[in-house]
Amino acid sequence: MAKILIVEDEKAINDLVRFNLELVGHECVQTFDGGSGLEEAMRVKYDLIILDVMLPKLSGFEIMECIEGTPTIFVTAKTGAQDRIKGLRLGADDYITKPFNIIELVERVKAVLRRTKSDGEVFEFDDIRIEFHTRRVYKGGEKVALKPREFDLLEVLVNNRNLALSREKLLNLVWEYDYEGDIRTVDAHIQRLRQKLGISDRIQTVYKTGYRFEI
Ligand code: CA
Repeated sequence: MAKILIVEDEKAINDLVRFNLELVGHECVQTFDGGSGLEEAMRVKYDLIILDVMLPKLSGFEIMECIEGTPTIFVTAKTGAQDRIKGLRLGADDYITKPFNIIELVERVKAVLRRTKSDGEVFEFDDIRIEFHTRRVYKGGEKVALKPREFDLLEVLVNNRNLALSREKLLNLVWEYDYEGDIRTVDAHIQRLRQKLGISDRIQTVYKTGYRFEI
């Protein structure tokens, strides 16, 4: 997957971001102040930088002015519109304010990578091949007909693999935030995915919560 640089001085947050991005298959490098963050960003070509604004030595904004062409998501406690505007003007691809939901961060990372990585992404496991750019799924080389929502659900599960996702979260991510649906819709779609792809053991039910795609 992607090579991601995390520049964040709060160790607990830095570790949380790293842990969750690595869980979904990314390779992460951690830095804890602006100076070493900038040095690392100049030294290696990253697919994405997760950049805090308030940092020792150099601010995230100052770093942003020095690096060009690397997709960046600002993560900051500053909630003022002025800061958001400044961040976006400097060319940030997205802006997240603390406290943030870690699954939302993982999803936004995915969205930015999808926009910025030109090559189509493919995910393979067992005898399954998922092509995200064409939205096609193959099992043992044969195409599996998935409905659009089934594919969306599979994509969310794969992109958040090894994380427990509540039914409400899945409903929000797959059926959009304003969908006034029933969480049983999620169960029905999970059942169909399990059947069509023969991956009952991969999509695990998390007791009283929801589901986890385990790999
Ligand atoms: Ca900070």
